[in-house]
Amino acid sequence: MSKRDYYEVLGVDRNASQEEIKKAFRKLAKQYHPDVNGADKEAEAKFKEINEAYEVLSDENKKKQYDMFGHAAGGQQGGYGGFGDFGGFGGFGDFGGFGDIFDTFFGGGFGGSRRRRGPVKGNDIRVDIDLEFAEAAFGVTKEVRVNRREKCDECGGSGARPGTTAKTCPKCGGTGQIKYRQDTALGRFETIRTCDECRGEGRVVDNPCPRCHGTGTVSKTRRITIEVPAGVDTGSAISLKGEGEPGERGGPAGDLYVYIRVKPHKIFRREGNDVYCEIPISFIQAALGDEIIVPTLDGKVKHKIPEGTQSGTIFRLKGKGIPRLNGRNRGDHYVKVFVEVPRKLNSEQKELLRKFAEASGDNVNQGYRSFLDKVKDAFGV
Ligand SMILES: [Zn+2]
Ligand SMILES: [Zn+2]
Repeated sequence: MSKRDYYEVLGVDRNASQEEIKKAFRKLAKQYHPDVNGADKEAEAKFKEINEAYEVLSDENKKKQYDMFGHAAGGQQGGYGGFGDFGGFGGFGDFGGFGDIFDTFFGGGFGGSRRRRGPVKGNDIRVDIDLEFAEAAFGVTKEVRVNRREKCDECGGSGARPGTTAKTCPKCGGTGQIKYRQDTALGRFETIRTCDECRGEGRVVDNPCPRCHGTGTVSKTRRITIEVPAGVDTGSAISLKGEGEPGERGGPAGDLYVYIRVKPHKIFRREGNDVYCEIPISFIQAALGDEIIVPTLDGKVKHKIPEGTQSGTIFRLKGKGIPRLNGRNRGDHYVKVFVEVPRKLNSEQKELLRKFAEASGDNVNQGYRSFLDKVKDAFGV
């Protein structure tokens, strides 16, 4: 069964705010709540779907992963936090008391049996890497060390000592599952459980492989080279298909997710694809205008500031920011200037400034005067 898009399930736009998502969820949850619909299977399924969608979209992290990877982010096995646990039904306190029975219908049994039937994709692996500011901006090649299980080459993954073979499990007849019937107040239930003899494998090994002790896999550390594209930021993830742990019963290998963390820079601050920095200028440069040197990702750049520049003014250097991921153009570089007031003046400088004040007359503190006028307007003093 193909899964419906979570945004479609909640009937919201991809850019919907958390508030809109919550509102849509509440409305639908009320409509399809089992207390209202009784034993209507369709409503139940709908209710489950709504909850699942909400659980992902209401959680910033899960939402981000979902936006990036779609339902694949939910995984079947989920080797690590964040992935694979979307299916649960935690976190809807509003409907107290309902959790238990819901689990009976949709929780344990459902997930449990699905997990053990047929080929299963291997676990995904997550590794985190730290990048320098410029590495994230322009891309870099990195090597990561990954600890993962790999097929044992001694027994070829069968788990049986070389020269022997695994045999069909006598308890489950090779299906890996055992059916249980249970009569309850709600009627008869048939539960399918994983065979405890072969742990769902369908095969048992009498004579285990000495290298892997019958598991068919061994732990290995691999060095894997990652091409980090230009423009990544903290929270970006790069996926390498099939570089996770091996699958079970012929299933495909899991994937490797490399999560990026970008170290802060001494003078640059990043916002999306734009870079910000602050530069001190003298009050003389501010008053008379000047050409200043601005450090950017591309090195030093000359920039003219006009006469009468105020402290806190921000100038934009177009296209000097960070390259957009999968795009051609770049963000901008913003430089904020702040005016430094000299701390130590010699007597000659002081004298010149006093002369400057005299020459300026009433104009020397225009800003403050107009401020005082505003205070008068506001308080009538
Ligand atoms: Zn082995
Ligand atoms: Zn068995």
